[in-house]
Amino acid sequence: MMREQTAKPFPWRCPKCLKRAVQPNVLPEYQAKAKHDGRLHEFTIPALQVARCQACGEVLFTNETDEQISRALRENLGLLQPEQIRALRAERTQQDFADLLGTATETISRWETGVVIQSRSMDKFLRIFMTLPEAEETLRQPRGASVPNEWAKAVSPNALPAFQAPFSWDAMFEVSYETPPPAPVETPYGLAA
Ligand SMILES: [Zn+2]
Repeated sequence: MMREQTAKPFPWRCPKCLKRAVQPNVLPEYQAKAKHDGRLHEFTIPALQVARCQACGEVLFTNETDEQISRALRENLGLLQPEQIRALRAERTQQDFADLLGTATETISRWETGVVIQSRSMDKFLRIFMTLPEAEETLRQPRGASVPNEWAKAVSPNALPAFQAPFSWDAMFEVSYETPPPAPVETPYGLAA
């Protein structure tokens, strides 16, 4: 199986037998395998659009094939499709939307064009964003302003023992040293510092 990325009119020249006999074709009940979030997923596509050489039978994947597999994978995993993410962004710029979600403008662009599939955790985040108007309000507050006081109290008493008054460098070193200090080196003039 080979991959053909160009959009030139059919018939294409076959990369295997070199005959100009490659035509659009459909593979029924195609067993697709695709990776997402580090896991391999297997699913069936009822009718996969490919190109196929009528002379030697070589199957070629086109851009449309890739897109079809990608859409089927999203559907299989219950993830938002590119146009749904685009609709969710609505009037916001990609930059503004990226800032809100804590990601890069390029990432938003890649989700919307379908080049990249969002992670499952980001997809859950997007769904909360979609269904709860308060989510955006919270995210637009200055960082930390939305953290309830109880959370701050819960972590403060013992989190950083070295910083409890009075501050001392010795206490600081006790908690932060991961490797012992180098042993003194012996020189002709005695021990080096
Ligand atoms: Zn061929």
